[in-house]
Amino acid sequence: MEHNTPLISTVVVGLVLAFLLGLAAHRIRISPLVGYLVAGVLMGPFTPGYVANQNIASELAEIGIILLMFGVGLHFSLKDLLAVKAIAIPGAVVQIAVATVLGVGLGWLLGWPTGGGLVFGLALSVASTVVLLRALQDRRLVDSERGRIAIGWLIVEDLAMVLTLVLLPALAGLLKGEAGDGASWTAVALPVAITLGKVAAFVAFMLIVGRRVIPWLLHYVAHTGSRELFRLAVFAISLGVAFGAAMLFDVSFALGAFFAGMILSESELSQRAANETLPLRDAFAVLFFVSVGMLVDPAIIVRDPLPLLATVLIIIFGKSLAAFAIVRAFGHPTRTALTISASLAQIGEFSFILVSLGVALGLLPDRGRDLVLAGAIISIMLNPLFFALLDRFVAVADGKSPATTEPPSDAQPAPPGGHVVLVGHGRVGGTVAAALRAEGLDMVIIEDDDDEVARLHKAGLKALSGNAAASDLLEAADIANARGLLVAIPDGFEGGQIVAKARALNATLTIVARAHSEEEVAHLKHNGADVVILGEDEIARAMVARIGVAKG
Ligand code: AMP
Repeated sequence: MEHNTPLISTVVVGLVLAFLLGLAAHRIRISPLVGYLVAGVLMGPFTPGYVANQNIASELAEIGIILLMFGVGLHFSLKDLLAVKAIAIPGAVVQIAVATVLGVGLGWLLGWPTGGGLVFGLALSVASTVVLLRALQDRRLVDSERGRIAIGWLIVEDLAMVLTLVLLPALAGLLKGEAGDGASWTAVALPVAITLGKVAAFVAFMLIVGRRVIPWLLHYVAHTGSRELFRLAVFAISLGVAFGAAMLFDVSFALGAFFAGMILSESELSQRAANETLPLRDAFAVLFFVSVGMLVDPAIIVRDPLPLLATVLIIIFGKSLAAFAIVRAFGHPTRTALTISASLAQIGEFSFILVSLGVALGLLPDRGRDLVLAGAIISIMLNPLFFALLDRFVAVADGKSPATTEPPSDAQPAPPGGHVVLVGHGRVGGTVAAALRAEGLDMVIIEDDDDEVARLHKAGLKALSGNAAASDLLEAADIANARGLLVAIPDGFEGGQIVAKARALNATLTIVARAHSEEEVAHLKHNGADVVILGEDEIARAMVARIGVAKG
């Protein structure tokens, strides 16, 4: 039986293998990303067995990048970018310079020409948006101050890379030392000016036309009441703008999608739009990792061990130390500096594009490309480790540092054995906290969102920042001596982890948890919750009660 369906087989084999290996990775407690990358290696041309179509895989990956950048844009308004520009712009520029110098140095040791070293160094200097976003999303840091700095920093890096990609062909002659006719001033300056002009035209177009049309369109579609059309509108806008930007203005898909999202973020519908793109975005992000894995020849580890080690060290230490120093020098706290360092200690999609171009232009030897690819996969695999270390640092700092755990001066001391721990201060937790406060109950809030915690501190409440499920925060909230725990977060399964931990630390504690499905109710009870409130049940009851009142 003949089947010639390369697109279907790439998608299907990619997703199935990624799923199996991702699950296996999860079981042995490492990031599923590693599973996806290994799935890619297995589907790639360097390992025996099935070889997927590399061109198709990289196009699928590109869709993943578009959807991810659209999501970043949705979360990132111009205001936010301007708010972090003071640190993001100089930070990214200095860090790119440091990484590039290190790369040129290594290239020089390996006997490459300066042009090759430059491409190599630049490729090592830019972090992967996909990897960074996944890490920040997993920790719900996207909306926090340090998350915004990390993303702003990355956007500056991406812009620098977009420029590099366009300028490199124009500069290749110069870098190869072919001075003379080909490399006159105008031959270099003209393409540079044209490129900058195109980017500026795109930005202006989006700010003037896109800013009016896109929110209006989405609003209009939302009012049709058709969920299907709304979903379609979100995809059509994100993919359409990205593609149009690339075709008409020659800017990258990623930049186009980012702008589409950014413009939408000013609309009230942005949260809904973000949710609609989630499932597809996740699927394509997985295909992105698979396609990266496919490029890697595992034999490089034995063929070129020392240069590979040096490459990895530049990625994970060279860049991060530089970033750490810069962020601290700007007066930001250590946890912000560490978040930026962990975020940048990897390389990804832009590096792949850059080295391919470098090789095609005859600047970079093949060996340089192989080192960057292998270095990327190793750094992506190691990245979750740095974030785990960061989590530990934050937990320890929150547990010990008086600045974050101590009640503000006007708070009352806790009556022994009397306090309540509240997890989550959103729509539900916020109302709960107000009621407890009105009753004068002593309470400690654990909340994941840094900014929210800062607001709580300002309001004179005791609050700890971080994920209650993932660290020692429950201990820091003195759960062992608490009278009650209220888990007011929307995810009942994540809540189950918190409940189980709390129960292990305090057998007599009264635990009340929030759920949105029968499965979550069962899960929370199984883990030790005394009372589980099913949100939808309560809404229904309140509605019924109201209609009863109206009739009577
Ligand atoms: P809402 O659904 O509006 O009540 O918001 C839930 C709140 O809980 C948000 O502010 C989240 O940041 C917070 N949250 C969600 N999961 C956790 C967690 N595991 N630990 C601490 N806070 C959380």
